[in-house]
Amino acid sequence: MPELPEVETIRRQLEPAVVGARIRDLDVRDARWCAPIAPAELRDIVGGRRVRALHRRGKYLDWALEGEVHLLMHLRMTGTLLLDPAEVPDHTRVVISLGGHHLLFVDPRRFGTGQLVIGDEELEAFYASRLGVEPFDKRFTPAHLRSLARGRSVPIKAFLLDQRMVAGIGNIYADEALFRTGVHPRRAAGALRPAQYELLRDAIREVLSAGIDARGASIDDFRHLDGARGSFQDRFLVHRRGGEPCVRCGTTIRKLVVGGRGTYVCVHCQPVPRMRRRAGAA
Ligand SMILES: [Zn+2]
Repeated sequence: MPELPEVETIRRQLEPAVVGARIRDLDVRDARWCAPIAPAELRDIVGGRRVRALHRRGKYLDWALEGEVHLLMHLRMTGTLLLDPAEVPDHTRVVISLGGHHLLFVDPRRFGTGQLVIGDEELEAFYASRLGVEPFDKRFTPAHLRSLARGRSVPIKAFLLDQRMVAGIGNIYADEALFRTGVHPRRAAGALRPAQYELLRDAIREVLSAGIDARGASIDDFRHLDGARGSFQDRFLVHRRGGEPCVRCGTTIRKLVVGGRGTYVCVHCQPVPRMRRRAGAA
């Protein structure tokens, strides 16, 4: 599933081709993509508008169009964007014609979405109800992270995957950040030592930056606009390395399930949390 670095990679590749261009047509071939708005209605609203800017917030790609019209794309599980491919692949859900380009939203599992938000204030409200702090925002301080986690007994991994806490982190980058921090994914989010929140904040930024530098990770469907793969999967220290020796200590990396997601851990570098004393503690 594309996370912040993958969406940012797409944004950077797409920006020069689309900013300033006018949307000539938006052909939504799968009505589920933009539901509850009908494809014809969406086409009427965005067609003819110029692209003012292309932003990213969390895992959303925000097409900021003229007239405070925002088309928010989310790739979800298997969405990819392809610019001017030689042929139209199976599972093409949307074709956007803009400037001299054709941009395809391809999505085998059909969880990807295009949502329309009209008005810059409405956009802020949309984000406010769904997304927490942006990891590279100066407001994302160790103290902020600690205050978000205070009193929370959910596993730290599940906490990091909650987009309402910190936006943009998914399964890959949560595992990589926790390994670098030396914190077990099942530790209660609110139970880290103060210094560990600082290490974790730094590790989150470090892994996301490394992911962007590597132009994302292509372990499943993620591809660049031209179909090329990212390379961060070659730099994973722990994620998807079950059964292999830890790069730091040689202990065999284990795979667990935390928060319903496949999770990779070195139990030497990331000590297993002690059992709770009271059964049923909240
Ligand atoms: Zn280790």
